[in-house]
Amino acid sequence: MQIHWHRDDLRPADNRGLAAAAGVAGDGVDNGTPGAIPVFVFDDDILAYAGDARVRFMLDALGSLRWWYRDRGSDLVVARGDPASVLPDLAAEYDADRIVWNKGYSGLARDRDERVRDALDGHKVAHDSFHDAIFHEPGSITTNAGDPYSVFTYFGRKWHDRPKPDPIDPPEPAALADVDGDPLPTIGELGFADPDADVETAGTEAARERLAAFCSDGIYRYDEDRDYPTRSAVSRLSAHLTWGTIGIREVYDATEDARERAENGGADVSGFTPEEQVGSVEEFQSQLAWREFYTHVLYFNPEVVTENYKEYDHDIEWRDDPEELRAWKRGETGYPIVDAGMRQLREEAYMHNRVRMIVASFLTKDLQIDWRAGYHHFRDHLADHDTANDNGGWQWAASTGTDAQPYFRIFNPMTQGERYDPDAEYITRYVPALRGVDADTIHEWHELSPVERARVDTDYPAPIVDHSERREAALSMFEAARGDD
Ligand code: FAD
Repeated sequence: MQIHWHRDDLRPADNRGLAAAAGVAGDGVDNGTPGAIPVFVFDDDILAYAGDARVRFMLDALGSLRWWYRDRGSDLVVARGDPASVLPDLAAEYDADRIVWNKGYSGLARDRDERVRDALDGHKVAHDSFHDAIFHEPGSITTNAGDPYSVFTYFGRKWHDRPKPDPIDPPEPAALADVDGDPLPTIGELGFADPDADVETAGTEAARERLAAFCSDGIYRYDEDRDYPTRSAVSRLSAHLTWGTIGIREVYDATEDARERAENGGADVSGFTPEEQVGSVEEFQSQLAWREFYTHVLYFNPEVVTENYKEYDHDIEWRDDPEELRAWKRGETGYPIVDAGMRQLREEAYMHNRVRMIVASFLTKDLQIDWRAGYHHFRDHLADHDTANDNGGWQWAASTGTDAQPYFRIFNPMTQGERYDPDAEYITRYVPALRGVDADTIHEWHELSPVERARVDTDYPAPIVDHSERREAALSMFEAARGDD
């Protein structure tokens, strides 16, 4: 019998490590001796970096996974502590031949895995780990000189050109060990509180519903509509991909089926030709490539979690302004699209991608506050926080990341709002104080005089900064860091 150590792969299907432990033949997987004991270890060192919403999603996903095992005469064995001491004990208790898991790519995960390997070696317990969460492992997509890519474009092209393996079947009941697990801890027992946010429903069933709905509609409009937060053209799979409640091969496979439908005459989505639909599917697949790109960046540069990826000649002199930071966190900056985004984060533990870019640009360019403050806030509040994607997104917005774009890309929060939320539908969904105010007034909020603002019957705040002035200040801040005269 073999232990499969679940971590951020909380699903039974399309799971390379679990398939190996259970002896299910999969792509390139060593089958070992059949009979899987599924295990999850609550590791307080890792939980120290989690927020309430993410822990809620994780616990719900574990609950759903547990029921999948119980329906098949097995169970999820749960333990709490340092995996380097818990796993050798579990191996002894269950007389397991081998422990397998799927690889993690952050510095923290890799250090932990190294310690676990050493501990298992010390106890003479065999172990193995598998590339599972991404298609192409770090080091497999490189420049012709063999270096990791520092910009996405060529990486993305190579990613698209590589063959992608098929999804892997879940284990049959006979391949699962007959074990009983202890109850899952409550969120309070883990030291977290039930979040105020309405967190995405967890579990593989919910992920599959999201995927199926997206692949019958949004995927064909993705290219055109994905930047508009009210058009429902994004998959909302991020928390599921973060926690692995669905496998990447299964997601990709569904997108390929969607492509086939488009190629065979087009899906029933009005306004788009079959060619446009195929292009749209590929645009979505590119986002999956971005996810792998940032995973590779993190793998080769684990220090980016705390340090700039891009080097400037001098330190960037970020401003330290607790009051402005607080206004940003609370969604009280007086810039409607920024405030709507920050309130969506609080209410749903999620934020639309376009709005993430806008709020991140606002924090780092308008307020000139260090991207790390924003990254930590997102890490604490997003259910989908993923070290690689969150860090990549923040450093991109702050002009400290892998992006080829220069430091002078500074989003104008008013024109972004006007363009991507013209009717202020998104804004008024999350900022009740602006309901009943017409969209033009909302998009001109920063230009109104105090008297004009006072005439609008709302307690929505005046802008806390002047965008044009702050834009100039941000340019000066980056020019000083570059050493420009
Ligand atoms: P879709 O548009 O449907 O995309 C599908 C999947 O592709 C996503 O679930 C995600 O896994 C991946 N993806 C999409 N866009 C990106 C991207 N730009 N970079 C990397 N992967 C991407 N994504 C996270 O998963 N976790 C984070 O913590 C995170 N933090 C971010 C912080 C900032 C400042 C920015 C600008 C972006 C961040 N992103 C993060 C990327 C992106 O915003 C989210 O993945 C996306 O909004 C999730 O919604 P969705 O699943 O509907 O996305």
